[in-house]
Amino acid sequence: MSTPPQTMDCQTCQSLLFEYLEYMLPGEDLVHIELHVAQCPVCGPLFAREIAATKFLLRNLGKLTGRLQLDPATRAEVLAAIKPYPWWRNPWMRPVLILAAMLLAVITALWLLLW
Ligand SMILES: [Zn+2]
Repeated sequence: MSTPPQTMDCQTCQSLLFEYLEYMLPGEDLVHIELHVAQCPVCGPLFAREIAATKFLLRNLGKLTGRLQLDPATRAEVLAAIKPYPWWRNPWMRPVLILAAMLLAVITALWLLLW
């Protein structure tokens, strides 16, 4: 015989609201939340509003934002800010350049010692 799942308090329930909406909760937490929401006069309406708002946004996001445009000056600033680094300033090049400098130092030291 299994034990009935424990319900949770409002604070815990509400702190998991966004994980609940994003389907990120494990099944046990999901059961606890749904049991709490079904019987809580505070969390029930709160969750219902958030679920309705999320559904509305998902349905209408394209319509609401489709015609938004950046001010041309702001657009130019953003594009200038994301201008790519020159190849030698890319973060992944730092270890390559350090290795090349060390190799050059070793070759120079060997050349000086052997000649
Ligand atoms: Zn509650």
